[in-house]
Amino acid sequence: MRLIFVGPQGSGKGTQAKKVARRFKFCHISTGDALREVADGRLQVAGNLREEIGKVMERGGLVGDDLMVRILKSKLESSECENGFILDGFPRNIAQVEMLKKISDVDKVVEIVISDEESVRRIGGRRGCEKCGAIFNVNTSPRPKVEGVCDKCGGELKQREDDNEKALRERLKVYHEETESILKMYEFSRIDGEKSIKEVFSDIVETLGLS
Ligand code: AMP
Repeated sequence: MRLIFVGPQGSGKGTQAKKVARRFKFCHISTGDALREVADGRLQVAGNLREEIGKVMERGGLVGDDLMVRILKSKLESSECENGFILDGFPRNIAQVEMLKKISDVDKVVEIVISDEESVRRIGGRRGCEKCGAIFNVNTSPRPKVEGVCDKCGGELKQREDDNEKALRERLKVYHEETESILKMYEFSRIDGEKSIKEVFSDIVETLGLS
């Protein structure tokens, strides 16, 4: 199954994409994660784009569409995606929808909705493990048992650079002005993202007819 998960920052689309992908053996492609790999030097792309990408992400803007499509294409070609994929963070505007159409069809789109206030609350509390990538939230859940320490591997928990309120407001503006408009291009199911992680997961599984 070829899926797109759409939702504002903190809606839980990354968490849900990971869970659904693991359960149904799809690959999970987060373009934000891929760009963080480029910005940290873990993923190489042609041209000297590392610094430029870091700057765009830090202020909450969008990275150029051509580069995004190049990254997406290379991920989709991997054998992990043979069974299907979930795109998380792509497409983010109409131009990216058009580019995606040339690479792959999409079976279903899921929109996960939360209010801007909830987004600010969740993103303000989001912490990620530097070592294993696990995500926690000091304002909501899952809360780390010991502040600043990953429950899973003991690594250090850090806030993402673009999770400060100024960059987040910019990211929400881009979301409402550009990303939401991609929903006009697809049939989509709307899911209430303010429920618990477990409830949102089962609502998604049900709407996709996967259970
Ligand atoms: P995310 O982890 O999805 O919140 O993405 C973090 C940042 O990566 C965004 O604020 C953008 O700067 C950049 N980014 C992620 N996906 C895309 C995309 N499809 N197009 C352009 N920029 C993106």
